[in-house]
Amino acid sequence: MMAEPARNVSGGAMLPASLPLHTEAHPEPWGRVIGRAMRLRCPVCGQGPMFRGLTTRDHCPVCGFLFEREVGYFTNGIVLNYMLACTATAFIVTPLALFVRWPLYVTIGVALALALGLTGLVFLHAKSLWLAVDLLARPAEAGEFVDPTLPDPPVPAPHPASSMEESP
Ligand SMILES: [Zn+2]
Repeated sequence: MMAEPARNVSGGAMLPASLPLHTEAHPEPWGRVIGRAMRLRCPVCGQGPMFRGLTTRDHCPVCGFLFEREVGYFTNGIVLNYMLACTATAFIVTPLALFVRWPLYVTIGVALALALGLTGLVFLHAKSLWLAVDLLARPAEAGEFVDPTLPDPPVPAPHPASSMEESP
């Protein structure tokens, strides 16, 4: 039996050539890339999970794509999260405010609860959608992959007030 042809990505990882990868050399349809993000999968290969619980993985465990493409990369994901939650809240609360004669404080309370709840609900999807949209504009390059078998680096423990005490 012949072994499946493999391709090399940076980091020395050999990936099966049949693994579909959205890269500069092999762009894929935008619907497929967005669909992968909606399933919280790696938008490059569509197979590796992008999150472990509520934590973003360092890289895809299947294709090795590094999710944080630059320092502070997911800041725009937070902005997208806010935009999605606020838009949904506006579409729900505006008809309520216009057609349901609730007191103003009830309407404001519902709006606040929706805004906070939806922000939490779409948090992971906003991050994965941001990555997918960015990938469509700027496809993955060979240097953005590591060996997928590498473990994620440990999450550093927070140091309470250490940065404040060290300042001169
Ligand atoms: Zn992947």
